[in-house]
Amino acid sequence: MSELSIAYIFQNQQLLVDQNLQLPKVEKLASDLLFNSGDQVIARDLKEDEVIPEGFQLVPIRQLITQWSIQEFEQASRALQLLEWRRNHRFCSHCGQKTDAHATEYCMVCPDCGYHQYPRIQPCVITIITKGRDQLLLAKSVRQKTMYGLIAGFVEVGETLEQAVARETLEEVGVKVKNVRYLSSQPWPFPSNLMLAFHAEYESGDIQLQEEEIQDAQFFHFEQLPEIPHEGSIAYRMIMHITQGQTL
Ligand SMILES: [Zn+2]
Repeated sequence: MSELSIAYIFQNQQLLVDQNLQLPKVEKLASDLLFNSGDQVIARDLKEDEVIPEGFQLVPIRQLITQWSIQEFEQASRALQLLEWRRNHRFCSHCGQKTDAHATEYCMVCPDCGYHQYPRIQPCVITIITKGRDQLLLAKSVRQKTMYGLIAGFVEVGETLEQAVARETLEEVGVKVKNVRYLSSQPWPFPSNLMLAFHAEYESGDIQLQEEEIQDAQFFHFEQLPEIPHEGSIAYRMIMHITQGQTL
């Protein structure tokens, strides 16, 4: 009998786990995505019409952020992103031919023109902006009812990360920042982002909202914060780091 593999089995950003949020062990299939080569770990898509095994459930991966360690969540998010990438690159984007999976790398190869398609990551900057020693800029997006978050957005082609921080801040809340410094990063599988966290200081300007995106933004005193993003998100860790001195 072959050794069983630990499996990340997904259906639409939901992961198959047992009642204790443990991953299932399965027999490996040829179609499985090998995960962490050498280990007995695989990733697999669960088809819509497949039966969920007895004692297991599908849990939205977002929900696991608060219940798993950062390392466990990042492993699961890596599995999810690799499966999505493989599903979205079944054909060559250059010539349209059906692709093959590379034998040893995460790469879909075109047998006709040789074009290689690797997993893509979208870099996103997220910035905590402070004013003086004890104030922090938080913004409420138009999609939120009560929660205030940090300024964030995608890095554009040809831009440095620092330029992206300055542009997003100016666009969303109309202020200029200075002393932009890198803090940390977090892979964010919705769908395939890499969040790059920065600290910046307020330089000048009055808050002016980008109304399609932001419904309110204010400088809040560290001791009087509104509702902030949930634990497990990089935004939460950044806010705790700056206001409470916690390690990131
Ligand atoms: Zn091709």
